[in-house]
Amino acid sequence: MNQMIFLLAQNVSSEFLLDPFKPVVLFVTTLIASALVSRLVLDIHKCGLPSFKWHGILIAGLISGLFAGLLIPTFWISWPAQILITVGPILWYWKVRNAAVPEKQKFVIGGDKVRAFFKKRGATKSLSGAQLSFKDANKKDRPNPAKTDPILPTFQATDTLLSAALQKRASRLDLVVKPDAVTAAITVDGIRSKVESSTPEITMGMIDFMKDLCGLDVKERRKRQSGSFWIVHEENIIPISFSIAGSSAGQQMRLDVDRAKNMTRKISQVGFLPPQEKVIESLVDPLDRGGVVLVGAAPGQGLTSTCLALLSGHDAFTAAVKTLEKNLILRLDGVDHQVWTSTQGGVDYATQLQSIIRRSPDVVYVEDIGEIGAGKIVASPNNTDLRFYIAIPMDGVAATITEWFKAVGDIKMASSHLRMVVAQKLCRKLCAACRVGYQPSPEQAKKLGVAAGKQIELFKNSGKVQVGNKVIDCPMCNGTGYVGQIIISEVLIVDEEARGFLAKGDLKSAYNSSRMKHKLPGMQESALLRVRDGTTSLEEAIRILTPAAKPVAQPATASPTAGAAKPAPPPNKPKASS
Ligand SMILES: [Zn+2]
Repeated sequence: MNQMIFLLAQNVSSEFLLDPFKPVVLFVTTLIASALVSRLVLDIHKCGLPSFKWHGILIAGLISGLFAGLLIPTFWISWPAQILITVGPILWYWKVRNAAVPEKQKFVIGGDKVRAFFKKRGATKSLSGAQLSFKDANKKDRPNPAKTDPILPTFQATDTLLSAALQKRASRLDLVVKPDAVTAAITVDGIRSKVESSTPEITMGMIDFMKDLCGLDVKERRKRQSGSFWIVHEENIIPISFSIAGSSAGQQMRLDVDRAKNMTRKISQVGFLPPQEKVIESLVDPLDRGGVVLVGAAPGQGLTSTCLALLSGHDAFTAAVKTLEKNLILRLDGVDHQVWTSTQGGVDYATQLQSIIRRSPDVVYVEDIGEIGAGKIVASPNNTDLRFYIAIPMDGVAATITEWFKAVGDIKMASSHLRMVVAQKLCRKLCAACRVGYQPSPEQAKKLGVAAGKQIELFKNSGKVQVGNKVIDCPMCNGTGYVGQIIISEVLIVDEEARGFLAKGDLKSAYNSSRMKHKLPGMQESALLRVRDGTTSLEEAIRILTPAAKPVAQPATASPTAGAAKPAPPPNKPKASS
């Protein structure tokens, strides 16, 4: 055995001496492979895959490949062997990672993501140093300005502000411009935070630039105007909704990023808990289609998105589905969307609703029941066979029902064909790449309904990951500890008994009898179930359940430097975020 190793070693040295070309090739191959592996290390964290295991596999591939290259005497066998042994684990990682990430983040050969991945940061910048480029309202390219163009500083400021917002996964950007000050705020996963802003002059220039992209009247400073344009960012084309209005309080601009995103969802994708989903699915039964379904959520809590999902549950070929909306965000296939605007030649909302109902639909979505007369039309005894979905911008089951009573103006009528109430809130989802596990305290466990003595693991947000021996802001969530949102909901079945109580104005008994009989989870219970399954943290559940919870109630994430200056959390039992 020893002799064999000796012979091999002799071979190695003689080959090396004879052929200076071979060690150079082996070295260069190793160097290229190491560079690739080092880039994948960050990707492993980003995808939330077990880092210890994958670091080991990739590095073992590198070392074994190098050894194969050194020890196999014939170069034309040793070099391919090195490549095979080194590349094998990388391809294996590629396959596992693609199975673990959402469609958009997959690496595809020749795909944009791969190209973007191999591009060094900043290499995407065009000649003017821009991260973004733009398309106008008609989706026509707007060339980035040349170096001598006087609009260049305005363009660069817009580019910096918008690319930073997109980098942080903002869904919304607000600018308020007063003569002496500018306030800029972004909303990420429903949490608003201030961001750095420019001077009033530069900001007005930026707003005019965007107005021009939308094809709006740039000189108009008072009337409310809205439009849309497109941002091209890292080879994605992102639709932007833009609105601006002026008043004595200054210019107020709002920009929404890809509003229709997440709106084409099936009921099963909304995020209801299994027992809730079963009840919701029963709504689309074509033989049992009557009744009013109220959907309640405070502004910004996913109301439209859930209403559209409920609508899309109905088969548009066998059911005539019509809507009356004020803000059309997305057209669903097979649905007749009607848009009501205040300037429509004297026809009020209720009249238009009545004319929709006259055309014998099966399902009607009413976006604004607060319009005078709309409630009475929906609750009319003539319409008992129709299914109505009514969006109500109120928080909680009780407030939603109360608002419905107000809209109809007659408790008996309002109760008569009420069938279900869905109330919801949005809750941030923990970032899978950096969440930290811990054992809850006995009091916490009791609150969560865990039997005494039973061990469970909960998770909290950290926003930090360890790469090598450095702790950095998690690249997946930009240090917030959360990525995306899920609904937390309460579904109340309004049956004969509950209707009886409601007709007498006894909301409390109606609520209690339904909860007792149908045993569906309440709002708090739903939130705690999402804590137990690791979707969110206890802190986040408490935040959304606290009645006074304002989007800025959490100082750590609401400060302008959220994420960057956030201290590492002190979990009860620190654990690697593998
Ligand atoms: Zn993270």
